[in-house]
Amino acid sequence: MIIFKNIPDFKNHIRKLKNDNFRIGFVPTMGALHDGHISLIKKSILENDYSVVSIFINPTQFNDINDFKSYPNDISKDIELLDSISENIILFNPDADEIYSGKVFSDSYDFGDLDKYMEGEHRQGHFQGVATVVHKLFEIVTADNVYFGEKDFQQLRIIEDLVLKIGFKLKITRCETIRQNDGLALSSRNKKLDISSQNIATNLFKALSFAKKNFENLDLEKIHTNVEDLFENFPQISIEYFAIANEKDLKPIKKKKKNQKYRAFIAADISGVRLIDNIKLY
Ligand code: AMP
Repeated sequence: MIIFKNIPDFKNHIRKLKNDNFRIGFVPTMGALHDGHISLIKKSILENDYSVVSIFINPTQFNDINDFKSYPNDISKDIELLDSISENIILFNPDADEIYSGKVFSDSYDFGDLDKYMEGEHRQGHFQGVATVVHKLFEIVTADNVYFGEKDFQQLRIIEDLVLKIGFKLKITRCETIRQNDGLALSSRNKKLDISSQNIATNLFKALSFAKKNFENLDLEKIHTNVEDLFENFPQISIEYFAIANEKDLKPIKKKKKNQKYRAFIAADISGVRLIDNIKLY
């Protein structure tokens, strides 16, 4: 595996591959890789000649400096893992100066209402930071195909919107959420939870599964009350939001309409660790 830390060398390498008509896949990550990331990377390897994996903990998308400072980081383990998967992975692992040239600020994007709800509402500036880094990375990597997880569904929708607005010529593939056997969605942040908190965290999936199972036969108010009741039993879990929203415009709904695709979304703090998850309701 080749590893690049600086932009010019990386771009040179990609330029040569593209001149030879190789197809480039791209999986942006913040590292501390787990099987969720690996599923995206394997998809990219299957569909492309070379796959760029970026590992960059993007400072501008953190609304809480302590969250940024304590974000899991184990680059040597990540390199070992990537090395064991395929020879056709190119790791791009820049530092913040390389990406931001000393100006660590977000640019300003208009996503209509896509960033007004859920994560956008609860993490001020988060999606401006995400869009800024993704925009920069897309320009650097010039991939043909990019892979994003449905685990961060709002992010995925915002990036789909960004690609349309900027006019990037690339294909985005949505990749399904990979979970532990107990339902807990894999996340780098799970590494910050001890075993008992991880067990408690499986209740997020239980709440989402309840919503999925009862979406057709219960009205939304009942679903919300049942979910609230479930979390009454777990004082270690502090729910930031539970919402059922349209998959397209991400607007949380009070009443369902026919022929629409909905998802249930949840964010919670568990023993000081913030987790998010969502599930499709169709
Ligand atoms: P992150 O490193 O958390 O920024 O995630 C990098 C990419 O991996 C994003 O597109 C995420 O949506 C995706 N991802 C994270 N966790 C999972 C998971 N459990 N299943 C599938 N994709 C995931």
